[in-house]
Amino acid sequence: MPSGRCLAHVVAHPDDDAYGIAGTVALHAEDPDFRFVLVHASDGGAGDIRAGFPATRETLGRVRQQEDENAWRAVGRPPDRHVWLGFPDGAIDQVPFDELVAAIDAVLTAEQPTVVATFGPDGIFGHPDHIAVGAATDAAFLRHAAPDGTSFRRLLHGAVPQSVFDRWNRQRGTLGLPLFDPTRTYDMRGVPDEEIGLTVDCRTVSDRIVAGLREHKSQLHVMSDDPDDIERWRRVCSREWFAVAWPPRTGEPAMLADVFDGLD
Ligand SMILES: [Zn+2]
Repeated sequence: MPSGRCLAHVVAHPDDDAYGIAGTVALHAEDPDFRFVLVHASDGGAGDIRAGFPATRETLGRVRQQEDENAWRAVGRPPDRHVWLGFPDGAIDQVPFDELVAAIDAVLTAEQPTVVATFGPDGIFGHPDHIAVGAATDAAFLRHAAPDGTSFRRLLHGAVPQSVFDRWNRQRGTLGLPLFDPTRTYDMRGVPDEEIGLTVDCRTVSDRIVAGLREHKSQLHVMSDDPDDIERWRRVCSREWFAVAWPPRTGEPAMLADVFDGLD
């Protein structure tokens, strides 16, 4: 029987799930009804390999899959089901859209999740893989979207509020780091604050989120300017933000505090 507390998270690459959802999952770690389904469209095999890291172009995908599994163990709540769809890293937007939708829909149909989370059209970094996975997940979700029951009740898009993005960019300026330019592909971007419908306070589990982040050892150099600055990482991880993509928001909806808020 579906419990009404199943969360499916659909992303493109290993480490996309390290920020933005790990705190939500950690907060539900002791919830016996909670089910967590994780879908990766690719193994990240085309990612950057930093100098001296023991991986090759041939092995990086497998290395990153293992890092992702280690990361969830470090968070303390591994997925109940983890699906690797095997699409080509860096070329997911070249996959026929119907094929991508069908692969994601097969998992969602089997799992009947209560809430589905993915990327919005901003892709957080404008990454074409992120945007393609988000659009395909939206399309699959909308085949099932239901106003009541225990399945397909809510569709979420992970996002960075514009006001937070602006604050982070100011801090980067103060630290002498290059600013994010949201007009550039692969640079972080925000969404208007009024689009954010769910803000999860992750401060009590931020140490677990950071422990997970640090397991993505092959990517630490692209994930943080200073991977050893644990305090800065904890601050960055203190909130997870989502736009509520479905159901349509009407009037002035209250800010949700948990993915399942109001669905019982
Ligand atoms: Zn990614």
